[in-house]
Amino acid sequence: MNQDVSYDVSAIRQDFPILNQYVHNKPLSYLDNAATTQKPQTVIDRVHKIYARQNSNIHRGVHFLSNQLTEEYEQAREQVRQFINAKHAREVIFTSGTTHSINAIAYSFGEKYIHEGDEVIITGLEHHANIVPWQALRERKNARLKVVPINDRGEIQMDAYERMISSKTKIIALSHISNSLGTINDVKRIIEVAHQHNIPVLLDGAQSIQHQQVDVQDMDCDFYVFSGHKVYGPNGTGVLYGKEKWLEEMPPYQTGGEMIQKVTFDKTTYNELPLKFEAGTPNYVGAIGMAEALRYVEKTGIQAIARHESQMLRHATQKLQEIPGLTIYGTAERKISVLSFLIDGIHHYDTGMVLDKMGIAVRTGHHCTEPLMNHFGIEGTVRASFAMYNTLDEIDQLYHALLKVKQMFS
Ligand code: PMP
Repeated sequence: MNQDVSYDVSAIRQDFPILNQYVHNKPLSYLDNAATTQKPQTVIDRVHKIYARQNSNIHRGVHFLSNQLTEEYEQAREQVRQFINAKHAREVIFTSGTTHSINAIAYSFGEKYIHEGDEVIITGLEHHANIVPWQALRERKNARLKVVPINDRGEIQMDAYERMISSKTKIIALSHISNSLGTINDVKRIIEVAHQHNIPVLLDGAQSIQHQQVDVQDMDCDFYVFSGHKVYGPNGTGVLYGKEKWLEEMPPYQTGGEMIQKVTFDKTTYNELPLKFEAGTPNYVGAIGMAEALRYVEKTGIQAIARHESQMLRHATQKLQEIPGLTIYGTAERKISVLSFLIDGIHHYDTGMVLDKMGIAVRTGHHCTEPLMNHFGIEGTVRASFAMYNTLDEIDQLYHALLKVKQMFS
């Protein structure tokens, strides 16, 4: 298969210094992008510049550096707003990542709206980050957690979903895209159905923000969360988007500096959005670095990235299917560039170890989706996940490396 010539993947690779290195004396082939993505030089430079020239705590300074960085922090918020097409910048809360964002919503929304006997719906595809916070809420509030089953292709069973909704359902929380299987869920339909019952929907966008155009107003989701490190940005950054009407009503889940308007020992009043949800010194360096990453994605073009990645997915699926005894897990009709698989008789960990020795970085294990692995009756998979800088050559290398793995263990 030929590489799409209008997409200059070698120029893109030049922007990511980490890709240009050898591991175990082999050129690095980084196929672990669902776990974390690498950073372009512009992001590295931006973070470096802040520490070298601009660092100062934001929001409460009277001096030049503090004011300058405060402005850039708020510009970063505006950049995120544009990227996800939120209506208002005050609907964008900076967090440390997806896990932080989901915990914040489960706690805060849960405090306000979930009572004994109420129900939360999740799906069989979820990452632990979208399971455990709801279990903790269930314990706190004596609530119920319902799980929508999936089929053997790794798709949500829509009939079961619709039947599961009841007058007790208070929120539906699901992954936009599955990290283990790559399934793109039909979130528009899911949200439409939920809204017919006036139930809000939280989308875990950890695996969608970097792969396709995200428009929170078009999807009409009530909450959308993601991590900066999955979209070529710094580690320890993330976003909690929420519709203003929810965020206004929900109580802060953390209290302290920045999130207050006035404090006396008798009474404290809270700040307005978004600061109400940003207690303490925020990771302003990370937030500004994340905005730089979003600019890089915009410059490259999310549609062009999506086309490139789907070409890689097609090629990889076709090549891996040629390997006898290899089973692909996750065969949904609509998928992003994630391939989970097992080779008969070879433990996923052994496959991953041998690939590593050939310079190929993949992830093995349950990918923080143990219930999903249980559905398939397996312990884990080998997962290759492709990003904007991967090439068709790397997929061919993976294919040949897997043939060697098979040979070694036969
Ligand atoms: N949800 C999904 C679908 C994910 O892929 C991940 C990261 N593997 C998370 C949640 C958690 O993200 P983080 O560890 O960045 O908080």
